[in-house]
Amino acid sequence: MQNINDYIPVVGPSVINELFLLAERVQPRAVQNINSTAVGGGVAEILTRMVPLLRQLGVNAKWDVIKGNDKFFNITKSIHNALHGADVTISKEEWEYFLEVNRENAAELDLSDDIIFVHDPQPIALIERRNRRDAVKWIWRCHIDITNPQKEVMDFLKLYVEKYDSAVFSAPAFGQEMDIAQVLISPSIDPLSDKNKDLPQETVDEVLERLGIDKKRRLVTQISRFDYLKDPVGVIRVYQKAKKHIDCQLVLAGGGATDDPEGMQVLEEAKSAAAGDSDVHIIFLPAGSDVEINALQRASTVVLQKSLKEGFGLTVAEALWKAKPVIASAVGGIPLQIKHKYSGILTYSIEGTAHYLKQLLHEPSYAKALGLNGREHIKNNFLITRHIRDYLLLFLSQYYEQDVVSL
Ligand code: UDP
Repeated sequence: MQNINDYIPVVGPSVINELFLLAERVQPRAVQNINSTAVGGGVAEILTRMVPLLRQLGVNAKWDVIKGNDKFFNITKSIHNALHGADVTISKEEWEYFLEVNRENAAELDLSDDIIFVHDPQPIALIERRNRRDAVKWIWRCHIDITNPQKEVMDFLKLYVEKYDSAVFSAPAFGQEMDIAQVLISPSIDPLSDKNKDLPQETVDEVLERLGIDKKRRLVTQISRFDYLKDPVGVIRVYQKAKKHIDCQLVLAGGGATDDPEGMQVLEEAKSAAAGDSDVHIIFLPAGSDVEINALQRASTVVLQKSLKEGFGLTVAEALWKAKPVIASAVGGIPLQIKHKYSGILTYSIEGTAHYLKQLLHEPSYAKALGLNGREHIKNNFLITRHIRDYLLLFLSQYYEQDVVSL
């Protein structure tokens, strides 16, 4: 496990000292994180790294995962898609089932810690078990892109969000009209995790060989769960357009998350769009493929993230941290990470993405400069130490008035 002091060479001692100082103030309070999957996707990725570090800082941080069956996760995936603007209907019966599963989980979980930190919509209705007479603070953490949610679904969820003390969003555009405090906290990557740490070239080469990728030719990569909103078929179209002008290989690599039932169908659609092109490598990654992801990102000439919607896009930060030129859609939290033509490229269409892909493949020195600027930006803004600091301040702020009165 990572030691918090290992981050000193990356961010400097004052950053770590500050974390200890803040954690000391939070310490009497226990913080319970609750989400809906232990593996797969950005939320699980962050909690896996964050919770042990908070504990090392002395914060009594815990992490629980709610239980649900296929029916529940099909409903929550529809909710997820509707929040991203998709035209799906959630029936009265489905909402009732959603609430019932939340109630079953609420009955099983010990919800007596000082701060209950609920991630995303799946467990949102646990708040029904809130007892206003105790001092427990409830925070809802929304990791998804809700710039243009389907109104009916958002309105339903708001009935629950407004029972919380605060809501946390990843980007300013996601703020909502609501009667509770809203806080902006961007996610982060862990520079020392297996996914982001430096790798010896032999490891990178070994992974490429194992996956059947030619290390001598240009490589374009998108790492993402197989999800419509990551637009894998769009990525293949981009590659096909660029390939007419310049030789390259494409890797689309990703797995599923236990709370995402659509993955296999999207994977199959990507395979048929690739139409048997042996330079398109569609790779289904099992959970825990961190070194493989790290190696693929490091081996890439250009990294794509052609999402249609994106809460933040950790994969963008991961690639930029490796000083890779990234071309990504200007959606959700991605523009926080990329300043167009300075720390990467922002695009709006398949044509635009293909245009810039050709340019970056043809102009390696320009591509390199974008990657280096990107790395600096991630270092200054999106590493886990900044994220821990923001969370500690968030926890402290929940008790601010009470603490001032008792001083
Ligand atoms: N990821 C992974 N395995 C996969 C696909 C993605 O570990 O098969 C990781 C990826 O490296 C990143 C996170 O999961 O750390 C995805 O976060 P992001 O914000 O990009 O998208 P999300 O999946 O949360 O929509």
